[in-house]
Amino acid sequence: MIDPKTFENLIIVWIIFALLLFPVLLFVKQPYGRHMRKGWGPTISNQTGWVIMEIPSLIILSYYFIFFHNYNAIATVLFLMWFIHYINRTLVFPFKIKTKGKKMPLLIIIFGILFNLVNASFNGIAIGQMPDYKIFELNDSFRLILGFILFVFGMIINISSDRILISLRKSSTNGYQIPRKGLFKWISCPNYFGEILEWIGFAVMAWNLAALSFSIWTIVNLLPRALDHHKWYLQYFPDYPNERKAIIPYIL
Ligand code: NDP
Repeated sequence: MIDPKTFENLIIVWIIFALLLFPVLLFVKQPYGRHMRKGWGPTISNQTGWVIMEIPSLIILSYYFIFFHNYNAIATVLFLMWFIHYINRTLVFPFKIKTKGKKMPLLIIIFGILFNLVNASFNGIAIGQMPDYKIFELNDSFRLILGFILFVFGMIINISSDRILISLRKSSTNGYQIPRKGLFKWISCPNYFGEILEWIGFAVMAWNLAALSFSIWTIVNLLPRALDHHKWYLQYFPDYPNERKAIIPYIL
């Protein structure tokens, strides 16, 4: 069992690492999907990459759920929220995307695995050790409900926006189109907006440093990528809607 002070310090170092990486990602496009380019070493199939990269999150959380035997109501709901998200990301999303023949650098997969190993371990330990909340206490119940609602809304937005994008392609060779349905009317990357909302909701509900660090990492990963996608859309499609923002409606 890890000493609580050491655990806290490790998470703080992890958060500092994310904050240092943020300005780097504002300048270096993550090389997969439309930003894939040469010079990032060996590559493997995009679809296989997603499964390998994301599966540690499912396995590790399952391990901690069993290992800690913490089946109090809130811990169980948090575990389930995590599982549902990662069942979609690992076992559904990669089999729906139309990216046959597309590759992803092995380096991205290695980073993705490390990212998921650390985040899932921190969150598995934190949820596993979570005390039983007095859920009828007013302050706690408000926070728990708010976090849960944000997570569910975020997940609906994330999954439905991913589906809209996937449905734009009739086949894997179909290239890119301007998405126009759902929240795409306002922003270029509602799937990222939804994902960020999900993990902020999760952090509000879990109310611990591990969940906070994961929401920070998600923003650090997805906000620069959303700006890159938005810039790309504006350059690629001369008729791209001018009023559309990158990731936060009317703001950014
Ligand atoms: P993208 O939005 O770049 O792509 C999603 C899928 O839709 C890809 O298959 C992509 O194809 C296709 N697509 C995207 N735009 C278009 C378009 N205009 N026309 C046709 N097809 C399109 O998302 P990512 O691949 O970066 O991420 C996938 C999911 O993973 C998202 O839900 C994201 O939130 C999540 N994620 C979470 C992270 C986290 O830190 N928690 C980090 C990274 C991703 P192609 O690949 O060929 O571009």
